[in-house]
Amino acid sequence: MSNKTTCAVVGGGPAGLFLGLLLARAGVEVTVLEKHGDFLRDFRGDTVHPVTMRLLDELGLFERFDQLPHSIVERGQFDVDGRLVTLVDFRRLRSMPHPYVAMVPQWDLLDLIADAGKAEPTFSVRMQHDVTGLLRDGDRVTGVRYTSPDGPGELRADLVVGCDGRTSAVRRDARLPSREYPVPFDVWWFRLPRGKEALFSLIPRTRPGRALIMIPREGYFQIAYLIPKGSDAELRARGLDAFHRELAEMIPESSPEAVTSWDDVKMLDVRLDRLRRWHGDGVLCIGDAAHAMSPVGGVGINLAIADAVAAAGILAQPLRTKTLTSKDLAAVRRRRIVPTVATQSVQRLLHRFLLSSVVQGNEAVRPPAAVLSLMERIPQLTAIPAYIVGVGLMPQHAPDFARR
Ligand SMILES: Cc1cc2nc3c(=O)[nH]c(=O)nc-3n(C[C@H](O)[C@H](O)[C@H](O)COP(=O)(O)OP(=O)(O)OC[C@H]3O[C@@H](n4cnc5c(N)ncnc54)[C@H](O)[C@@H]3O)c2cc1C
Repeated sequence: MSNKTTCAVVGGGPAGLFLGLLLARAGVEVTVLEKHGDFLRDFRGDTVHPVTMRLLDELGLFERFDQLPHSIVERGQFDVDGRLVTLVDFRRLRSMPHPYVAMVPQWDLLDLIADAGKAEPTFSVRMQHDVTGLLRDGDRVTGVRYTSPDGPGELRADLVVGCDGRTSAVRRDARLPSREYPVPFDVWWFRLPRGKEALFSLIPRTRPGRALIMIPREGYFQIAYLIPKGSDAELRARGLDAFHRELAEMIPESSPEAVTSWDDVKMLDVRLDRLRRWHGDGVLCIGDAAHAMSPVGGVGINLAIADAVAAAGILAQPLRTKTLTSKDLAAVRRRRIVPTVATQSVQRLLHRFLLSSVVQGNEAVRPPAAVLSLMERIPQLTAIPAYIVGVGLMPQHAPDFARR
């Protein structure tokens, strides 16, 4: 196995695999290093938005994607005293070829992208390669250090891209300064069986002190259950019976006893932060490694993929011709900073005005009555939040070299 590549991509999540595939389609030699042995982890979220499906079309991968097991979400509705009011209607996104959100287990999507990458001669992915630090020549980053089942190793590269998520080792070792924003909740992540007639809800179901989102997967619901930040141990100490009672109240159509032990309930630490600078000499961060996203709105995957598309469009040519400069790396942040800041700002507003109040035990804050009645009277307005969530600011298209 060669210990030299052109671009070392650290992390085989959505950002890393899309970046690897696109660069390889430009003929750049690219090596993706993923610390796990497979993509089968269930805590990444499943929402694939219209803008990402349009990208899959452009990459010639939509047909294969469409064959993956998935559910379709066309609307987001809000329960107002037993009446369902539509607030978000993706079907109104008439310029989008696939105007809905596809709920696809993320490991299936990642397998598909990794397979498409393997069809390119300059792409390789190394599983069970845990990157532990950066190699340097003076101030310049020249590669990565990793551990694998064969022991420790080094991979030299013209560029290292950190796509290693919220706890990025690349970001840490590159000493890129970041800004943290407080988040009022963590998430309990677990499964409940899914009856045939069960409804799912991507707009949170709330009760004072509690909120949850139900993600439909084949044969079960993946539940994201919001708890006040730092309250995990205290809530577990109240016992499983108390938890079952709460669940039965919030999801009467499911069977809470399916959670048989606290081991079934994973605690996910939710963070929201952003690097002030996304690059150093020879190194760049994108996706959650550059800006950790909250699960609110289910946009993080799509934003990470958009970062990868933008980065590939900017970096492919200078990487191929060995003319990469810090200016090229800075251009990636410039291209992506507006949608990133805008999306995180909306998430922070929702944290502060909706979720913070709910997890502190208050009644859920409803959208103002005037907004609800306006949406009912002029349903065309539901296209606006659908555009913000499903397409977003500055949507990215596949560069010509990556289209099939
Ligand atoms: C509870 C929760 C639920 C969410 N739900 C949704 C949702 O429904 N929809 C949505 O769009 N977003 C959701 N998000 C946000 C979303 O998960 C992230 O924004 C998105 O996964 C970012 O993609 P990424 O490729 O940048 O990083 P990640 O998906 O975190 O991928 C990073 C990859 O790097 C690998 N890695 C890490 N360290 C190393 C290392 N040292 N060496 C090698 N490999 C390494 C990891 O194993 C992983 O495969 C959720 C977030 C949370 C916390």
